[in-house]
Amino acid sequence: MRVDVARLCTRRLSSWRPAKDATVNAFVCAAPPAAPTPAHLPLHNVSVGVKDMICTSDMPTTSSSAMLRDFTPPFDATVVRLLREAGADIVGKLNCDEFGMGSLNVHSVHGPVVNPFQAASDSAPWVDREKRSAGGSSGGSAAAVAAGMCDAALSTDTGGSTRLPASYCGVVGLKPSYGLISRWGVISFADSLDCVGIMAPSVARTKHIFDTLNVPDPKDPTSAPEAARHEAASRAARAWPSAALSALRIGVPHEYFPAELSAAVAAPVRAALARLRAHGATLVPVSLPATPYALGAYYVLSSAEASSNLARYSGVHFGLQVPAPAGTAPGTTASTYARTRTAGFGAEVQKRVLLGAYALTADAFDNYFLQAQRVRRLVRADFARVFRAGADAPGDGVDVLLHPSAMRTAPRLHGSEADTDGLDTYVQDVLTVPASLAGLPALSVPLPVEGDDGWPVGVSVVGPWGAEGVVLRVGEFLEEVR
Ligand code: GLN
Repeated sequence: MRVDVARLCTRRLSSWRPAKDATVNAFVCAAPPAAPTPAHLPLHNVSVGVKDMICTSDMPTTSSSAMLRDFTPPFDATVVRLLREAGADIVGKLNCDEFGMGSLNVHSVHGPVVNPFQAASDSAPWVDREKRSAGGSSGGSAAAVAAGMCDAALSTDTGGSTRLPASYCGVVGLKPSYGLISRWGVISFADSLDCVGIMAPSVARTKHIFDTLNVPDPKDPTSAPEAARHEAASRAARAWPSAALSALRIGVPHEYFPAELSAAVAAPVRAALARLRAHGATLVPVSLPATPYALGAYYVLSSAEASSNLARYSGVHFGLQVPAPAGTAPGTTASTYARTRTAGFGAEVQKRVLLGAYALTADAFDNYFLQAQRVRRLVRADFARVFRAGADAPGDGVDVLLHPSAMRTAPRLHGSEADTDGLDTYVQDVLTVPASLAGLPALSVPLPVEGDDGWPVGVSVVGPWGAEGVVLRVGEFLEEVR
């Protein structure tokens, strides 16, 4: 079922959408015209696109699902309110994988997002390039920023949905520490992992938006209190007091450079590490032995939470309701559920709901759900052992970890690389899910595009919980030593 996007929008996309977006398909709705904000506000003149899983009172919020095709929330999410109060111009809603489930932004009722990347050295118009994925699930957010259609974008990140598309499209993407940015008004996928992410062309602009959103929210029960934020930030600052590259200890986890890592990714990441070392940073080989188990644990836990979260879309309280066919008996409540959920959810969402519901059944609970929780604890313990500002605070620990954001560059949307249903797309998340399971801040920074492949590569900076100041500073160093 295809949603008629123009019908959904308060302002017809065709009258506003930059010509580029006709092919990129990043925007699903444009905001109604708004009065200019006062010039003294910190985000005055900053245009921000918002992932279509984040509620906006003046535009529909569909989560790229037929289930929510007619849903216009009566409120703004806290993050949207904070941006508006800071003077930002919210320009529209951005395409994504349905309910945030996917790595290629191909599971969307609005159609796939096409990667708009164009190398500076490339004279061919971007529309003539082969069509590659923008990554997912926040593909619209990454593509809109990469194509210059907005100054910054909000995304979400449950297991990598900010960092993977940022890496594929060549923009900066921040998944903040779990609990720092309010999730109130953000459509839930897996509550214990969901974070609002930020995408922008530079680390400085990412930081600007992050600073605006980094406040406790009494409406979000998982929002971290002020004291915890302050304590974490000062612990990180005490561990690296000079904030100089010469005093920075960078952990390089060998599990994040597996044999399957594409050479087009490994070479620029190793070159970036060498540049940082040449400028005085200390590189420390580290091991995070639970890493190979993180991906399986992530898919069990996120699907279990999704099956519970998405139970609310029953055809009774929220969203779509598919009535019994004309001339037939109204049927039971269960048949309304079944008709509505069969028509309203796409194949990927149905798969996750079934997988998650199974993992929570009495028969499977111990073997799947509990084991996955144990793996999650091991992943957390791995990180705590290596950070010098972490809970276990080893004196010879590191300030941040650096590793590739993705196993490869953006896959083609058509042909053999467009395997959108197979295990291969899940494997793309292998490098991003550990930080999600541990709730840590992770920033993907684009590296200079080089080599035969010629498509963007991102490097991820991961720090202890609440150490965004350190992670963003290291991101700036990466930009400075290009
Ligand atoms: N690709 C992962 C998934 O499909 C991550 C999604 C996300 O972070 N929202 O679950």
